[in-house]
Amino acid sequence: MQNDFPVIQDVQAADMLDLLSRYAQPGPRYTSYPTADRFVEAIGPEDFLRALQNKRGHAWERAQPIDLYVHIPFCEQICYYCACNKVVTKHKDRGVAYLELLELELDLLKPRLSEKTHIANLHLGGGTPSFLSDASISALLQMIRSRVRVADGAEQAIELDPRTVDAQRVRNLVSMGFRRISMGVQDFDPRVQKAVHREQSVEQVRDLMVAARASGVKSINLDLIHGLPLQTLEGFSKTVNSVVELRPDRVALYGYAHLPQRFAPQRRIHAEQLPTPQDRVQLLSLAIERFSRAGYVYLGMDHFALPDDELAIAHQSGRLRRNFQGYTAQADHDLIGIGVSSISHVGSIYSQNAKTLELYEQSLRQGLLPVERGIALNRDDELRKAVIMSIMCNGNVDFASFNATFLIDFRSYFDTPLTQLQKYEADGLLTSDESGFCLTPKGWFVVRTIASEFDRYLQADRARHAYSRVL
Ligand code: SF4
Repeated sequence: MQNDFPVIQDVQAADMLDLLSRYAQPGPRYTSYPTADRFVEAIGPEDFLRALQNKRGHAWERAQPIDLYVHIPFCEQICYYCACNKVVTKHKDRGVAYLELLELELDLLKPRLSEKTHIANLHLGGGTPSFLSDASISALLQMIRSRVRVADGAEQAIELDPRTVDAQRVRNLVSMGFRRISMGVQDFDPRVQKAVHREQSVEQVRDLMVAARASGVKSINLDLIHGLPLQTLEGFSKTVNSVVELRPDRVALYGYAHLPQRFAPQRRIHAEQLPTPQDRVQLLSLAIERFSRAGYVYLGMDHFALPDDELAIAHQSGRLRRNFQGYTAQADHDLIGIGVSSISHVGSIYSQNAKTLELYEQSLRQGLLPVERGIALNRDDELRKAVIMSIMCNGNVDFASFNATFLIDFRSYFDTPLTQLQKYEADGLLTSDESGFCLTPKGWFVVRTIASEFDRYLQADRARHAYSRVL
């Protein structure tokens, strides 16, 4: 079945408000399946080593590329909404000491890779990668290149905090090969910025974007967050207008999840200043409408891209994929993540490094890979992962292709979720026939809720919750 692009003009604003309030519930963003909260400690370094060994003997000998993610956990100051793994410090020397740990990890990995292993995508994330000096970033790249071949034309991406870089630094990073940058904006409203302890101006971001474009950066992403304290329709409208004027190639618009019990910095956010659920829907609705009218393609959940950006092109041609960085147009490769809390995905194993610097360092000093938890995908996981990714990325599911690939009868295997889909169909969010189902333009706005019907873990939790409420 063919799916249609989600185009805001096809959806009445009031209609959208209604469906977002009914269906846009908190839930996984499906950057992986199973999601990281399902990882278990039964998976350790030996499982990861086995996965590497299997690849070394097969795929990597055939010169299949890998992706490398490097986590730099340091930030100079805390943003109160933050739910990332980070270490807040002003001591720059901690960055230098951290490089030594990354080198130990790379040394442990190197003998497990094939001579032919090469990196197609290199991503520095955090935390704040630009916490490291240019000299340290250059040393890190050198350290990687001296151990693993980086393919000609490999994509190099880096997350930047506009408060910690200037135009010259951007030029330096471009000269090191970074052609994709992503910057956190969240909201330009000064009241909101104060309430979340992250103050930066439109001019700061504009200067960096101008420098980046002039020196050859090919893609710029800006992150926004809706649902922050003191956000109003008026203030957020100005923010969205400013972002439209800045014209980044991509915009990611995340929803703030207030979980102060889990994330200590969020305890400094005053809950009474948070927008109501109804307000949140209006903020999201405003942003979707404004970006769509400005010519951005809505990719279905929290991403927008200009029509000539490779994400939008991949979306149109059915080649979009999802990984831990969100939507990507890159091919599906094994992912090796290094650094504290980094996640790797090699073969059928997800593995995650220790989440504290202390445990991460302890393992490395003992000569052990610092894997702390993970999950080994069984056949059902692989199948559901493929279904969820097909919904999230292409907006459709073709039963015959799943039947052929997984040797199942889709309709009987997924009898329960397919029954659940009937309510979405009745609301005009998807259409179905004997061959499969596909989202309508309206359905794209609640794509992850629809995908979650195929999430075995989430559905089991919901069933347990319903059961305990009944009893
Ligand atoms: S939001 Fe980003 S910059 Fe702010 S504390 Fe978290 S990781 Fe650091």
